[in-house]
Parts: sequence; structure tokens; C-alpha cells
Amino acid sequence: MAKENVKVKILRYDPEKDQKPYWKTYETAVDAGSTILDILNEIHWKLDGTLAYRRSCRSAICGSCAMKVNGANILACETPLHKYKGKTLKIEPLPGFSIIKDLVVDMDSFFDKLAAVKPYMITKKPIPNKEFIQSPEEFEEIKDSTLCILCGSCTSSCPSLWANEDYLGPAALLKAYRFIFDSRDDGAVERIDIINDRNGIWRCHTIFNCMEACPKHIKITEWLSKLKVKATENSI
Ligand code: SF4
Repeated sequence: MAKENVKVKILRYDPEKDQKPYWKTYETAVDAGSTILDILNEIHWKLDGTLAYRRSCRSAICGSCAMKVNGANILACETPLHKYKGKTLKIEPLPGFSIIKDLVVDMDSFFDKLAAVKPYMITKKPIPNKEFIQSPEEFEEIKDSTLCILCGSCTSSCPSLWANEDYLGPAALLKAYRFIFDSRDDGAVERIDIINDRNGIWRCHTIFNCMEACPKHIKITEWLSKLKVKATENSI
């Protein structure tokens, strides 16, 4: 396969050794069809084994390899090098989270916020003998939101979160939407109580960064707008 020369600047930071993050430049040749993750692997395996980054499925399913490349949050495993043809790659950890090492960020707050909205089915109806039935039309209401892989790209790209780290953020609110609008769920009132808060849905200012960052192209802002209507109706 034809090789392509690439120049990659990576924001490196080891809190145990470094005073602050710094840029390190690598130059290498990779297969022309490489993804960003292939390039990181090449660097890690052949040039610098100290580089830290997350990866797992290589199939845009696990959400582990979300990072910022040339100014935008992406999944490294699905993003091809040719998207940045002729440009130096600038790779940084997801913004809005503290850095554990290099491209690995601390996602604890992200998952704590997810847990806060009760991301599971709450049922008060009698349990049926088989499964809870849902019509195709009812599923259509939540289908888009079920595609979330919890990569954190949306929450990390949200200026409202940068301004206030206590904001639940788009991913947790989307998860709330996914259950509040699920016809089988009975936990809407208790979840709306949680999101109808100064650090909840009302901190979404419809900026749309989350939608641009989402690798699954989920219409996050649209669903959060429906959540605002629901929260308002509930208050009335
Ligand atoms: S909504 Fe999209 S960007 Fe946000 S966590 Fe889910 S998959 Fe990632």
C-alpha cells in the first residue's frame, strides 16, 4: 500500500512530571488509508511508547478514542487521515475534562452525571409475562437518542459546560430524554425533577456544538429542546 508522510503535533502532559502541557511533534510514514488511531498506534508502537491514549473496539462503538483533532472532537478510529490532507495534525485530549496523561482524560464526572439522571428503565406497571411491548411509532420517538455510545464528545464541546463544570451536559440530558420519552418507562416525573434545575436542562443555550461533535449524528439539541418543553409542562 502507498505510504504517506505525516507530521503530527500531540499535546503531551504527565501531571507527575510536567509543569504544564506541551506540544511534541512526530513525523512518520503511514499507509495512505490510515485513520487517526492507526497513526497514534504507529507512534506508540514504533516511535514513543510513553504516549498515552484510549482505544478499544476500532469500530466506532465503544467511544473510547474520542479526542480533539485540528480543532474538532472526533473518534480517532473512524476518522481517516485524508480528511486532513496536506495539513499538520494537531491532536489534543477532549477539552472540558482534566488530563490523566496525554490524551487520556478523567471521565468520572461525565459518568457521575449520567448516573444522576437514572439511566435505566423505571417501571411501576405490573411486569408482563414476556417483554414490555413498544410500537414502532413509540420507538421512533427515542430511536435517535439510543444511538449514543457515551464517547463524551458532545459534553466536552459544550461552552456551557466549560463555563460551569456542574452543568449536567448534553450526554446526560440526552440520556434523560431517552428514558423520559420511552413509552415503557414510568420515571419521567422523578427525572424531570432532576433535570429541571439551574445545572440541568436550562443551561443548554442551543449552541449546537454538541450536534457538530457527535460521531453518531444524533440530533441532540432537538431532543433537549423537547425536554425543555416537557420540563415546562411539568412545572405548570
Ligand atoms: S450524544 Fe453523541 S457525542 Fe454525545 S456521548 Fe453520545 S455519541 Fe458521543
